[in-house]
Amino acid sequence: MKVPYGGDYNPEQWPEQVWKQDYELFDAARIDTVTLGVFTWAQTQPAPDMYDFTTLDRIVERAAAEGRQICLATGTGALPPWLAKAHPEVNRTDFEGRRHRYGQRHNACPSSPVFRRLSAEMARRVAARYAGNPAVIAWHVGNEYGGACYCDLCAAAFRGWLRARYSTVERLNAAWNTTFWSHTFTDWDEIEPPSALTEHWRGPDHTAFQGITLDYLRFMSDAMLTNFRDEKRAIRESDPHTPVTTNFMGMYRPIDYHRWAPHLDFASWDNYPPDDTSQARMALTHDLMRGLKDGQPFWLMEQTPSYTASRDVNPLKRPGLMRLWSWQAVAHGADAVLFFQMRASRGASEKYHGAVIGHSGRSDTRVFREVAELGAELERVGGVTLGARTPARVALLFDWDSWWALEISDGPSRLVRYQQVVLTYHRALWDAGADVDVVPVTADLSRYDVVIAPALHMVKGDLAERLEQVASRGGSVVTTFLSGRVDEDDNAFLADVPGPLGPLMGIRIDEWDARGPEFVNPVCFDNGPIVDARLLLELVIPQGADVVGTYGEDFYAGTAAVTRNVFGAGYGWYVGAGLDQTGVCWVVRQVLDWHNLSGPYPDVPDLETAVRVTRDGTHLLFLLNHNPEPVEVVARAGGLDLLTGARVHIGQVIRLDARGVMVLRQ
Ligand SMILES: [Zn+2]
Repeated sequence: MKVPYGGDYNPEQWPEQVWKQDYELFDAARIDTVTLGVFTWAQTQPAPDMYDFTTLDRIVERAAAEGRQICLATGTGALPPWLAKAHPEVNRTDFEGRRHRYGQRHNACPSSPVFRRLSAEMARRVAARYAGNPAVIAWHVGNEYGGACYCDLCAAAFRGWLRARYSTVERLNAAWNTTFWSHTFTDWDEIEPPSALTEHWRGPDHTAFQGITLDYLRFMSDAMLTNFRDEKRAIRESDPHTPVTTNFMGMYRPIDYHRWAPHLDFASWDNYPPDDTSQARMALTHDLMRGLKDGQPFWLMEQTPSYTASRDVNPLKRPGLMRLWSWQAVAHGADAVLFFQMRASRGASEKYHGAVIGHSGRSDTRVFREVAELGAELERVGGVTLGARTPARVALLFDWDSWWALEISDGPSRLVRYQQVVLTYHRALWDAGADVDVVPVTADLSRYDVVIAPALHMVKGDLAERLEQVASRGGSVVTTFLSGRVDEDDNAFLADVPGPLGPLMGIRIDEWDARGPEFVNPVCFDNGPIVDARLLLELVIPQGADVVGTYGEDFYAGTAAVTRNVFGAGYGWYVGAGLDQTGVCWVVRQVLDWHNLSGPYPDVPDLETAVRVTRDGTHLLFLLNHNPEPVEVVARAGGLDLLTGARVHIGQVIRLDARGVMVLRQ
């Protein structure tokens, strides 16, 4: 047993003599796992009533004969042209109302009965054909689900989804507050998808009716989930056990992965960070993916060994970076390290996307050498990390509904972005080296000492009570500006802001001031720094809370910006303004220090630490040096470095090379 290592492999793009060379190189790099058939629909079903698995048979047989594990795709990530021609309604209609013709990928209307029938049939046939092959260790349904469709089939499905949610038009009218602007609906058929032709102007975030748009986002996420479930159900007809997944895209706004997660047997995701300084962001996303299945390990389904091709500028991963980021994934719960792609496409949009094997087929490249070195390292480490869990005492709440509701809202500010607020608070936790679970608002919070809920715009169900329980038993809850504003239907609470969070926070918000990015109001902390606050500044009226930070300027100078409320045996912290990173770090550090939850090296910049606990209770401490120069620290605990076999003693100076990694078994 070891961490599966390999990635997407598309030998159908080359003559078979190339396959021999591929497997020789895979041997050299210890590639033991291949993801096959992600885009094979046009090949496996070349005509409506013709299925042809000749090539896929040879590909699967060859991989099995070569001793590889197979993650086998259903192949439905892109439509075949004949299908789009024969049934134009399988093509999507875009936000502007244009019915698309054949092109690109991920291009099917999720509500199309023809697409649903034929994609499920393809999954059924693939599973029936290859189920029972011991090389197949997982099924990979579709690919990177996303986007949206606004066609008449989706409109009809949306109305059905609304009927199921609200039962009566009266309840729907109440939820959408339709007495506003004469929108009272009298029949389900009057409801249109919210698009550029209906409720929207200036694009998908500018809507006249937030309730309609919010429900359409929920519906579209559910519609694509239905597509996944169609195929999974078809697979299960012939294979009841092999795990089924689909590759997610991390913090991807259009799909609520929390609603999907129960239907996947394990989570997996594709890590393509926007730049090479996104180590904290990647850590957050790994933690989010791990949180989808209650802390169970996930697969890193894709990463590039070198560069992407999809961006305007595609920087090269520096030497050591691919290894460092691969270990970062493992440190945060990845139980597989896979690349896109094994051999570079010859043509089309990914011909310059990085690959383990380039167009020349050479093995004496830097990229191949680093891939092979990591392969050897993963083989040496073996299976010790598989199934290991993260012992986090800190939870960061992540909520797609709050993300959507905040960003489709008219007012207070279009400049406040949910992801940016979350990233700032996570960065503070990451800098401090705290192990963090990123969890949905429905998660069991009883195991956490600290719960951080940035921009918790929407408060649903019993969340406020569960947050109060965290504080009551001695924990700390931190929330921010624009929290506790709306209920599940995106209607304002008929109460003081922050609504149901008011008692826990011991405050009320009287007014708020939105300003452009150039406007700064300093916030002064008692016994702390003076930091900048921007974008949104709430005027906080303490209702029992202690003032921790005050505004420095304007007519509200001297009033509360940051407060801390004693609640039971714990605290509710409220940050009423968009503090800069220094300010957020200061607040978060106060909280972590109170609970003694910072990591071993909170003051060493860009030295990341993460802990996983193995099935037999052994602690693995990962040290990841994201700096381009070496770092020396004093060992806080002893152990065996699994990568070098060196023994580390408490108090010893540890040296980590530039972008170096250490995995200490304690
Ligand atoms: Zn559609």
